Amino acid sequence: MTGRLTVVGLGPGSPLQISPEALSAVEQATDFFGYGPYVERLALKAHQRRHASDNREEISRAAAALELAARGGQVCVVSGGDAGVFAMAAAVCEAMETGPETWRRVDFSVVPGITAMLAVAAKAGAPLGHDFCAISLSDNLKPWSIIEKRLVAAAEAGFVMAFYNPVSKARPHQLGDAFDILRQHLPGTVPVIFGRAAGRPDERIRIETLADARSDMADMATCIIVGSVETRLIAREGKAPLVYSPRSWSAGKA
Ligand code: SAH
Repeated sequence: MTGRLTVVGLGPGSPLQISPEALSAVEQATDFFGYGPYVERLALKAHQRRHASDNREEISRAAAALELAARGGQVCVVSGGDAGVFAMAAAVCEAMETGPETWRRVDFSVVPGITAMLAVAAKAGAPLGHDFCAISLSDNLKPWSIIEKRLVAAAEAGFVMAFYNPVSKARPHQLGDAFDILRQHLPGTVPVIFGRAAGRPDERIRIETLADARSDMADMATCIIVGSVETRLIAREGKAPLVYSPRSWSAGKA
């Protein structure tokens, strides 16, 4: 049998936010590779095997999955959210690019999922209604100076920004530094959404202004959306305000 490797995004956490295509890919595979908590999330049958690994072992995990598929295995590599957004789809491509020819003969596909920023945006209103970008604040795979440059460029270009990997124990100061940089380029009134564990039972959505945003409002399970100068709030009696970015850009504000 030809080996198959499917990279599947499992959505942000709620079972209702896994696509039927992802569920069907999971049903057809026999071997599952991924970061422990994602592999654990799968309801597997007796003949299906879990190969859980640590969060930082992406390339060796991708290589092991490709090798099994090259030997005829029916393999799924799983990620949270969308597998192509700061996740395993790119890691598998990186391994494939430099690995043995047999890995490139595998029947390879990627099944999309709902990424964290979309789940958080939907909870807050429509903050991504106009142009936006996504930035990982982790400097494990790129220098912090690049991140600083991108923050300034995105603020000056008027993009709404979604931050992934905002903080970790090894990187406690970076989110605060990022807010400090943005405060030099954007008004303090810009809304900032802290979306924690979107789609999970412990979900929490918090809306602040850039002036008041602090790094201790986020952890590794938080996706942060920083508005543009156009992003605004609609106050609602007895309910959280809606945050939205209008579809058109007002002249003269850029
Ligand atoms: N592939 C994932 C992102 C992996 S990077 C996706 O598409 O969502 C890991 C980062 O994603 C976390 O640090 C956090 O910023 C964000 N994240 C993942 N799941 C989340 C959730 N349920 N709620 C909020 N943010 C989440």
